[in-house]
Amino acid sequence: MFEKILIANRGEIACRVMETARALGVRTVAVYSDADAASKHVALADEAVHIGGAAPQTSYLLGDRIIGAAQAAGAQAIHPGYGFLSENPDFVEAVEEAGLIFIGPSASAIRSMGLKDAAKALMEKAGVPVVPGYHGDNQNPAFLAAKAKEITYPVLIKAVAGGGGKGMRLVEQPEDFADALVSAQGEATTAFGNPDVLIEKYIQKPRHIEVQVFGDGKTAVHLFERDCSLQRRHQKVIEEAPAPGMTAEMRAAMGQAAVRAAEAIGYKGAGTVEFIVDGSDGLRPDGFWFMEMNTRLQVEHPVTEAITGVDLVEWQLRVAAGETLPMRQEDLTISGHAFEARLYAEDVPKGFLPATGTLTHLTFPDNVRADSGVRAGDTISPWYDPMISKVITHGPTRAAALSQLARALEQTRVAGTTTNLGFLGALARHKGFAAGEVDTGLIARDLETLVQTPEVTPAARIAAAQVALDLQQAADSEFGFSLWAPLQRSVHLELEGNAFEATVAVDGADRQIWTLDGAEHLVSRQAGHWLLAGQRLPDCLRAGEVITVFSPFGVSFTLLDPLDRAVSAGGDAALIEAPMPGLVKAIFAEPGAEVREGDRLAVLEAMKMEHALLAARDGIVAEILAAAGDQVEAGAALVRLEEA
Ligand code: ADP
Ligand code: ADP
Ligand code: MG
Repeated sequence: MFEKILIANRGEIACRVMETARALGVRTVAVYSDADAASKHVALADEAVHIGGAAPQTSYLLGDRIIGAAQAAGAQAIHPGYGFLSENPDFVEAVEEAGLIFIGPSASAIRSMGLKDAAKALMEKAGVPVVPGYHGDNQNPAFLAAKAKEITYPVLIKAVAGGGGKGMRLVEQPEDFADALVSAQGEATTAFGNPDVLIEKYIQKPRHIEVQVFGDGKTAVHLFERDCSLQRRHQKVIEEAPAPGMTAEMRAAMGQAAVRAAEAIGYKGAGTVEFIVDGSDGLRPDGFWFMEMNTRLQVEHPVTEAITGVDLVEWQLRVAAGETLPMRQEDLTISGHAFEARLYAEDVPKGFLPATGTLTHLTFPDNVRADSGVRAGDTISPWYDPMISKVITHGPTRAAALSQLARALEQTRVAGTTTNLGFLGALARHKGFAAGEVDTGLIARDLETLVQTPEVTPAARIAAAQVALDLQQAADSEFGFSLWAPLQRSVHLELEGNAFEATVAVDGADRQIWTLDGAEHLVSRQAGHWLLAGQRLPDCLRAGEVITVFSPFGVSFTLLDPLDRAVSAGGDAALIEAPMPGLVKAIFAEPGAEVREGDRLAVLEAMKMEHALLAARDGIVAEILAAAGDQVEAGAALVRLEEA
């Protein structure tokens, strides 16, 4: 085994790798950017090396600098985590040329799976079923349109270099093909510098089922499947293992196909073979097709660990250190069912906009696995993926594991940023999902109900007001004097831009009569708990002027000072500014052009997402202050309108 390894990553995955390394007695070296100096992964490591600025291009993507850090620290191997350099064959070669071990597959294995068209051709040769379609070299639009017709509509256009759902277009009918092709190629060129596409049959009622494989460079085993069909815009939201409705026959067929894929490229380490499955008529052994292989550890690997009892990072380290595969296929078994939910700092009602903030509080219930790269007090910065944690549950049956997940989400407490907890909670309680009706369209079909923010109850408002006035813990003695003259107090709070006033008449230590919007509510204390209409008031936390009520998911109230209520948000509506640091992808405005409120003036790419920046009012464009390709800071002015 290694004595010391460097982890070329950050956040949750860096922490995950370090935990196993520590358990194996392996010392760890972290690397960090300016934005991460005080982060959890740095604290967990035995040593940490500063490698550059906050922007990944100046730190986590600088292979040579990371290799230099590993050499200087005396590390023998580098674990890439996922993302960043994990699927970069040039990096693998550089690591090896430096005399270090890359904990993962060979550069050539990564290259064979790097482009979707080449990977599909290779898999066809290895006898793995691939999605029917065209994945040849001819990129002539008329030729591709003819191929689409042959495949029969609907078809999917995919960038061969694609990833993260980019460069992908669903085309329902021949009339739309030409436009979709141009737009897919355009997106592929900007995102990957490669316009080439392939055409695939669009599978109806698609399910995403992937197989975890593990190889030693010659032979491979599989660790069964994960179902990742719960997706939003081709991004996984909740994953599970095993797949609902899976039969022994289909599992064997998919497992064998995945092992064939891995062995065909001499795969070493942990990898995932992704299949698309036709779920329109149950699962059938002839109804799955290879989509792509991810040549790295995957975000959702914990559900596989939960049902197999295998620590995949331990296997990665052991195999990279020269050991043989720790288990044989026939010794691997499935025990129970597991779910993983991806908890993000994001504003769901605002179209899942990534959020930032300093976590004033972060706790998880005891009976779950929470893989997190942040702690209370840490900041979700605008520089990286806004993931807060993965919440993983494991139970004897799917129903048990799912109900554990629903409860765990309800008991997870985050304050200091807005999160997708409520959305995940709604999914975990979705009837169709519970019944195993999983397909990649589920979230989109029910989006409206899933993103609904539940009404904020009087109980939540009163709980917040109680905390604001410090009336929660009120001891008997303090209020004894007021028995004959109720103590009257009031507080102004704001919730999502709406201010309201709560007034209370304190009637002794255990009775409070609250008035909200003219309605009275009696709140009384019994056995140490405050009750409203027989129900306990929800728990809250206060951090400065912000009070978060867990009812059950976090709702944040802001305490207003009644004296400066007049201050309004305002801002300069003439300036279109970058809301967060990012890369300017496009500017649509031109000096002198007339624009209307809501017109899209620029696109900013930040936190793995594209954000449209809109005109805040009607006007004439006075000046363009940035160009496509510029990296800008938060608050940088991009477009200025003429004075009204
Ligand atoms: P998976 O395919 O493993 O489920 P996703 O497709 O959801 O994962 O996203 C994983 C990809 O997202 C990685 O390949 C990487 O590009 C990026 N990514 C996610 N989280 C991080 C992170 N903490 N640091 C760097 N990159 C990340
Ligand atoms: P990426 O590299 O962006 O992850 P994939 O090829 O893995 O691209 O596809 C991403 C998602 O798109 C899949 O998980 C699935 O939801 C959907 N998808 C891909 N191919 C098909 C297809 N042929 N039919 C239906 N859905 C598909
Ligand atoms: Mg994929």
